[in-house]
Amino acid sequence: MTKYKLEYHWLDGYTPVQSLRGKTQIKEFTSFPTLDQLPMWGFDGSSTNQAPGGSSDCVLKPVAVYPDGGRKNGALVMCEVMMADGTTPHASNHRAGILDDEGAWFGFEQEYFFYQDGRPLGFPENGFPAPQGPYYTGVGYKHVGDVARQLVEEHLDLCLEAGINHEGINAEVAKGQWEFQIFGKGSKKAADEMWVARYILMRAAEKYGIDIEMHCKPLGATDWNGSGMHANFSTQYLREKGGKEYFDKLMAQFDKNRMDHIAVYGPDNHMRLTGLHETQAIDKFSWGIADRGASIRVPHSFANNGFKGYLEDRRPNSQGCPYQIASQILKTISEVPTK
Ligand code: ADP
Ligand code: MN
Ligand code: MN
Ligand code: MN
Repeated sequence: MTKYKLEYHWLDGYTPVQSLRGKTQIKEFTSFPTLDQLPMWGFDGSSTNQAPGGSSDCVLKPVAVYPDGGRKNGALVMCEVMMADGTTPHASNHRAGILDDEGAWFGFEQEYFFYQDGRPLGFPENGFPAPQGPYYTGVGYKHVGDVARQLVEEHLDLCLEAGINHEGINAEVAKGQWEFQIFGKGSKKAADEMWVARYILMRAAEKYGIDIEMHCKPLGATDWNGSGMHANFSTQYLREKGGKEYFDKLMAQFDKNRMDHIAVYGPDNHMRLTGLHETQAIDKFSWGIADRGASIRVPHSFANNGFKGYLEDRRPNSQGCPYQIASQILKTISEVPTK
C-alpha cells in the first residue's frame, strides 16, 4: 500500500470569476487511484462564498483524477461542488448539467500575464518596456527574460505528466504575456483539463514569487494586448459534412445568440473586444477567412476543404469559464438543423 497525497480542488463561489481552491487528504491505495476509488469529501462553504456560516457544509464530488508530478505520490482530483445532500449540484457548479458530446472537440488557447510587484514580469518599475512587436514568439533575454521560460517549461512538463492534452506554448504579444493550448474531445474533458492546467500553472508560479494575471485587459486602455482564451471547436458534422450552406446558417445562429455568448465569455470583455488588437468589437458579430479581427476566424484549411473542419471563436477571454463557453457553443450549434 502507498499513501497518496490527494489534492482535491474545486471552483469557489466568487463572482464574476471563480477561484480555484484546493486541500489535501492522504489515503492508502495499492496503485494510483481510479476515480471510483476516490471518496466524496467536504469543506467549509462559508469561507468560499458557497454557504452561510450556520450551515456551512459543502460536498466535494471527484470527477477527474490526474497524476501530480509536483508531489511525490500525488494526485490532482478535480471536484464538483454539491449541496450537503451530496447529489444536488451547488449553484456555483457550472460543470454539472453542461451540454457535452464526445464528437465535439475543443481547443482552448489560454493567454495570461506573469505578474510580479504589481506589473507584468519584465516591465520596468516606472513606465513601459519597448513597445510590443518583438515579444510574440520572441527569443532572447531582452524579449522574454529568464524565469518566464523556466516556468512555462515546468508547467508544460507537469501537464504532460498529468496526462493533460497540452498542445503547445508561445510567448505572446505583450511583454510578460504567454499562451498555452489545451485540446480535448468533449466539453467536460477539455474544460476539466483547462481548469487543472490553470491550477498547475498558478501553483508552479508560487515559488518564483510570480502571480498569474488572468484579467483580459490588465493594462487597461493602453496599446498593450489583452488576454483571450480563443475557443476552437468542431463537431463530427462540421468535420465530416460541413458545407457553405450549413456554415452560413451556423454563423447566422451565432449572430443571433451573440449576447448569450458574450454573457459567458468572461468579465470585462468590453475592455478587450474593442475592434483593435486583433479583436472584433463586442457589439458586433462577424466571421472571416484567416481574419484575426473577426469574432469567428475561419481557418484557410476550413474554407479550402469545402467549409469543413474547425472554427475559432476569438471572443472568449482569459478569465472565461471553459465549461460555460463550451456549453454555449454546443447550444448554438444544436439550434441549427443538420441534414
Ligand atoms: P492560433 O494561435 O493561430 O489561433 P493555435 O495553434 O494557438 O492557433 O491554436 C489552435 C487550436 O485549435 C489548438 O488548441 C488546437 O488544439 C485546436 N484545434 C485543432 N484542430 C481542431 C479541431 N478539429 N477541433 C477543435 N479544435 C481544434
Ligand atoms: Mn494561439
Ligand atoms: Mn494567442
Ligand atoms: Mn487563436
